[in-house]
Amino acid sequence: MKSLVECADSINARDIGRALPDNLESGRIELEISGIGIQEVEIISTPGQYGGFLRWCICPGCSRRVGKLYLPTGGYAFLCRYCHNLGYRQQQLRDFRKTQYEKKIKTKLEKRSKEQLRILKELIRMPKAKDKVE
Ligand SMILES: [Zn+2]
Repeated sequence: MKSLVECADSINARDIGRALPDNLESGRIELEISGIGIQEVEIISTPGQYGGFLRWCICPGCSRRVGKLYLPTGGYAFLCRYCHNLGYRQQQLRDFRKTQYEKKIKTKLEKRSKEQLRILKELIRMPKAKDKVE
């Protein structure tokens, strides 16, 4: 099972963007990771729908443009959720429920086919009506 996004420390590009001057479209920031050291993260911007900029981080691991970078427990760097293989709690819950539902359906189908097989065997064993008459 994947570690959860919700359990990892994270930095949000939008929050970091507020620290950059308004006229600066891109830049690099330094993050201090306790016990590890300094990590540089590239911030870029795209035009916002209502003016201004939308800020994005460039994942140091895969160069994806992402809104958030994560540092899971025991992690060594802020990276995107794909690089850290993080999943969302809701997604995992959905997957778990889907698996449970599939198991339930499978069990029901197996029970039904066992019952059908039992009936079929009974019908085969049953003497034919004309045989009884004689
Ligand atoms: Zn990445």
